[in-house]
Amino acid sequence: MRKLAALVALAAAATAVAAAPARQPARPFVGAYDAATVTGLCNDGIARARDSFARMEARKGGAGFFDEWNRLQIEMEDVVNPIYLVGSVHPDKAVRDAADPCLTKYTTLSTELFQSEKLFARAKATKPANAHQAKLRKDLLEGFEDSGVALPPDKRKRAKKIFDRLEALRQAFDKSVRDDPTKVVMTPAEMEGMPEAYLKAQKKDEQGNYVLRLDYPAYFPFLTNAKNEEARRRYWMAKQNEGGAENLERLDEIFLLRKELASLYGLPSFAHYSLRRKMVGKPETVTKFLADVKTAVTEIEKKELEELRAEKARETGKPLAQTSLRRWDVQYYQERVRSARYSVDQEQLRKHFPTDKAVAFALELSQTLYGVRFTERKVAAWHEDVRYFDVTDAKTGAFLSGFYLDLFPREGKYNHAAAFPVRGVSLIARRTPLSVLVTNFNRVGLDQDEMETLLHEFGHVLHGVLSRTDYVTHAGTSTPGDFVEAPSQMFEEWGRREQPLALLAKVCPECPRLTADDIARLEAARQYGQGTKYARQWLYAAFDMSLSLDPRPSLEVWRALESDTPLGHVEGTMFPAAFSHIAAHYAAGYYGYMWSQVLALDMLSKFSKDMLDAKVGHRYRDTILAQGGQVEPADMVRKFLGRKPSSEAFFKEITGRR
Ligand SMILES: [Zn+2]
Repeated sequence: MRKLAALVALAAAATAVAAAPARQPARPFVGAYDAATVTGLCNDGIARARDSFARMEARKGGAGFFDEWNRLQIEMEDVVNPIYLVGSVHPDKAVRDAADPCLTKYTTLSTELFQSEKLFARAKATKPANAHQAKLRKDLLEGFEDSGVALPPDKRKRAKKIFDRLEALRQAFDKSVRDDPTKVVMTPAEMEGMPEAYLKAQKKDEQGNYVLRLDYPAYFPFLTNAKNEEARRRYWMAKQNEGGAENLERLDEIFLLRKELASLYGLPSFAHYSLRRKMVGKPETVTKFLADVKTAVTEIEKKELEELRAEKARETGKPLAQTSLRRWDVQYYQERVRSARYSVDQEQLRKHFPTDKAVAFALELSQTLYGVRFTERKVAAWHEDVRYFDVTDAKTGAFLSGFYLDLFPREGKYNHAAAFPVRGVSLIARRTPLSVLVTNFNRVGLDQDEMETLLHEFGHVLHGVLSRTDYVTHAGTSTPGDFVEAPSQMFEEWGRREQPLALLAKVCPECPRLTADDIARLEAARQYGQGTKYARQWLYAAFDMSLSLDPRPSLEVWRALESDTPLGHVEGTMFPAAFSHIAAHYAAGYYGYMWSQVLALDMLSKFSKDMLDAKVGHRYRDTILAQGGQVEPADMVRKFLGRKPSSEAFFKEITGRR
């Protein structure tokens, strides 16, 4: 009986939305997906959604509109979200490729929906009965406006063309990064410094050389540990060309189209267009914030890089005056200084954080803080590595949601770490949420960065699966882009403090324990290099803002900005070709990572006395996670803090003064 619980609960969610005329896939990933299934599900689903759309257009007035809208959104996300996921993670390339045309069709439909004058008129005619409906009305009206419905017909037509083209470009951009076939071949001698486990995990060719791909689990440890500078340089150069020159052209077209889109609204730039819907409201706020960040970190970065140069001189035995630090040196010498100063060995750390135990720790933490229970269930999935969990309320036992974990790298899989909110919650539709964690972890154990990534991305999963919004449009992470990172950035902190880390012993009594001194040294090691890290974050955000305010050839803009940094620009590199964030919806929004962190670190202060205070945890679950996008972020943060937010903790963090 128990085994079926997940199925029953999910089937219940599906029944709730079955009021919509169409069948909803209850378990999107059960059953073998092949390319034809993807195409079939997509076409059927889009056809059903088009029927519902037509029926909504045929009605008049605001009555019933919110519910109809909710059902349609559910109908659409049930088609597109699973397909978006399999497009990123399915082991079969044909299946991944079949997803793209579907996403294009979905974007077209979504744009048409928001360009419907009839639906716009009905949305305007709605009379909200409560605050959540009022917020939905506001968001919908803004959505309609942003899609061009209030524009004159010729401009509206152009806006639609632009949206379609932007989606096609985004897909092509991502695909070039995802399917980049580049492999870097290293002789065994060039692998000097690499740990045994790393060597074992890599593929070898017939000559016994190592064949390295561009994914993070292969790339980062190499840049951090490989002693041979030329080998590091070669690998670094390959990574800096990931995506290829065509992606630069795509990026240039993307930013020109965005500027044109903004001009249809009489707005001076895409930054103006985008930021008016974000927490910051306008470009000036971002420009000022980024200037403050730059001022805070510039000198610290210089000082840190000088230390690294001195370390390089020491290691190579060359005079300091003849030693220059290059970009492919930074991680390597940071690690040398860090391990000498704080005696932290990232590879050793994997013994303390075996991957499955680290995951169990993240789950245990969440259960302790938020009063929920996770139960693993055997269910069919898209790959044998994938695990699934039910989420229930610890007190009432009520089924809340579910999530999948897809933790390890494989060929063709999405090569970053992300949470996919496959199904959004809607209390009104009695619909439970479902999220998927996608990472590329080392199978043996996690290092400090990977532990941070695990907690960060699981923070997004929690935001999805613990959200309790009335409407699916507001579910979980459907918040403004400059707030959405805050919950996950905050959650990272639980992997850094002694008190929560003690829970590791509970889930893994046999794991070697970290002492208080180990944890303090780990934290000091993490804070080492903040200047360099945030100077880089500033650079990404400034680059994004620069193109969003005034599009020019992206590589030129990048070269100019990077040339102005202490390590300069390396000719023959094209970092922007793999900067997927700004090809997608993070455009005019990359600053949001730092802006969110201001709020994350500020909210963290409420846990400063007791990191496992379930009372504060419950309040956080109720005021922040549960609310998704149905309350303005500024309002919910103020409610949780009981005061206005402050950036003090953030500036302490980035200058290493915490
Ligand atoms: Zn994130």
